Amino acid sequence: MNKMIVGAMAGALAISANAAINVVPRPAFVQEREGFYAVEGRIADKVTFVSDSRVPAEAYRLVVTPNGIYVTTSDEAGKFYAMQTLRQMVDGGKVPCVFIDDLPRFKWRGLHFDDCRHFFGKEELMKTIDAMALNKLNVLHWHLTEDQGWRIEIKKYPELTTKGSVRPGSPKPEVLKTPGCKDHWENNNIPYGPYFYTQDDVREIVAYAAARHITIVPEIELPGHALAEISAYPELGCTGEQFDPWWHWGVSEHIFCGGNDKVISFLEDVLSEVCELFPGPVVHIGGDEAPKKMWKKCPKCQARIEALGLGDEEGLQGWMTDHFTKFLATKGKRAVGWDEVLDGNPGKDTIIMSWRGPQGGIKAAARGNDAVMCPIDPCYIDNPQGLADDPYEYINYGFVDSLERCYQFNPTDGIPEDQVKHILGGQGNNWTEYTWNGSEYEWKMWPRMCALAECLWSPVEGKSWECFKARVPAMRRRLIRELHINCAPIE
Ligand SMILES: [Zn+2]
Repeated sequence: MNKMIVGAMAGALAISANAAINVVPRPAFVQEREGFYAVEGRIADKVTFVSDSRVPAEAYRLVVTPNGIYVTTSDEAGKFYAMQTLRQMVDGGKVPCVFIDDLPRFKWRGLHFDDCRHFFGKEELMKTIDAMALNKLNVLHWHLTEDQGWRIEIKKYPELTTKGSVRPGSPKPEVLKTPGCKDHWENNNIPYGPYFYTQDDVREIVAYAAARHITIVPEIELPGHALAEISAYPELGCTGEQFDPWWHWGVSEHIFCGGNDKVISFLEDVLSEVCELFPGPVVHIGGDEAPKKMWKKCPKCQARIEALGLGDEEGLQGWMTDHFTKFLATKGKRAVGWDEVLDGNPGKDTIIMSWRGPQGGIKAAARGNDAVMCPIDPCYIDNPQGLADDPYEYINYGFVDSLERCYQFNPTDGIPEDQVKHILGGQGNNWTEYTWNGSEYEWKMWPRMCALAECLWSPVEGKSWECFKARVPAMRRRLIRELHINCAPIE
């Protein structure tokens, strides 16, 4: 059985564009057979499950005959994924007879959800989790802290939510729609917040995701993108100045003071509560876009650099990354950081999230760190999608990531064969500076996330844009009909 499923990778059959097996992501091995199974009642009640410990994690064999439906797996995730496939195969009360051996190419199949620039709330998050499950995505990277807002209740520091989750305004979307306007923001002066998730909300969302075999990776950014925390507790910054969270976008030069022990204990306290709330094995500690202007003139930061022989400000950030990676390890968690953390020479256990391109992941794999690939092109699904008429396109930073371009993503491009084992997978990142509500948010994600999901689940052998383009409309219709998602068109 094990041999069969793994062996299927080598001889994987492409599903032809007009196949009856209209499934996204494409299963690793499909053999269509004659006839169909007629379903009466709930399909879930008609499946005979068989347990076989030789089947790899998350894998399944699905056999449909005129007499029954049989699913063989070694774990609950495999059963769940077999059912997601089956859901897509039922048509008019019939399931076509088929033999499928299927398993994921990567174990990290992610979607990144920015709840800080705009806040979307529990219902939108759960809807997203449902859509992820249907597409066999299994990691939700939840971005919870930013210069523009803090979004998670921390019992020990209540002002993070009373002050840090409210900003004095937001950019007006209509100004961005002005032809020729780029990054010109005008404040609407409407307080935004308080918007945050209580710890009860978080527990509910974590359980909802777990029931769908999705692990949540919470992100607490350090040392940059920290203005919301500094607004709540000014002593966490280098200057002690009082701020509000920013109403506009961009990167604040006021970051956590790297030389202040209070900052270290604050972050340890926060991460302790976060580790209690999120049972998953990984916590994201940010590390991107941390300007060093304040550190260069801060006596406390300079004293730490001097005392520990860190050399310079990059060394200080490296020390912080290392400190919190080790701290998380005491909680049984691995740290993941954006690719800038490579500049601080992190330990081998730190996972690198490659966003500025594939180079960070290539460098990480070469030095023996695991990596998650989400290069800005094509994995930033807030980039314009190249539609003839897109009502939700506000700004263009130079990347246009169409559905087809997303489909061409391959996380192991540029990785030598012997280092491929370090590529855990990839993810689509949806940043929300220019996404004002859930409807716009969904438009940017779907169906592009269907394309990325297939890149992360299905074997490279047999990959075909024409075949995907023929299958994805059915998935799009399902997302609209079953989950009421505002999907972008397929052009
Ligand atoms: Zn400082």
